[in-house]
Amino acid sequence: MSDDCIFCKIIEGTIPCAKVYDRGGIFAFLDIAPVNKGHVLVVPRVHYATLFDLPSDIGRELLGALKLVGRAVMQATGAAGLNVGMNNFEVAGQLVHHAHFHLIPRHEGDGLRLWTQHAYESGDEMQKLAQAVKQAIG
Ligand code: 5GP
Ligand code: ZN
Repeated sequence: MSDDCIFCKIIEGTIPCAKVYDRGGIFAFLDIAPVNKGHVLVVPRVHYATLFDLPSDIGRELLGALKLVGRAVMQATGAAGLNVGMNNFEVAGQLVHHAHFHLIPRHEGDGLRLWTQHAYESGDEMQKLAQAVKQAIG
C-alpha cells in the first residue's frame, strides 16, 4: 500500500471503481476514461511501481488473469480483438505509478492506431542495436 497511490485506494475500497475481478493477488476494474468502452485495468494488489519491480513469480497468476479477464471483456463488448498494453515510466505515458496492464477491446474499423512506426537507416544500424540489447541481457 502506497499512501499517495490512487490504485491502492481503489483496491482497498476507499475510492470507488467498477470492479470486474478480485482473486488472489490480482484486481481488475474498468478504466474511467476508456480508449474503447470496456477498457479494463489489471493490477497486482500489492503496490509495485513498474514491470521491473514485479516479482517474477506473480507472472503465472497475472497471465492467467489477463487471459480470463481479456476473454470476458471481448465477450461482454462483442469485440473482435484485444490490445494488451503497459506503460512503464512517465516518458512512456505512465501516469499512475502502480504497475498495471490495459486490456482494450477492439472492433472492426474502430480507427485506433496505437503505434507510429519508423525505419532503421540501414541493416547495419539494426544489427548493431540487436547486438547492444543482447549484450545488455548478458
Ligand atoms: P497509465 O497512463 O498510467 O498507463 O494509465 C492510467 C490509467 O488509469 C488511465 O487510462 C486513466 O484513465 C486511469 N485512471 C486514472 N485514475 C483513475 C480512477 O480514479 N479510476 C479509474 N477507474 N481509472 C483511472
Ligand atoms: Zn499502489
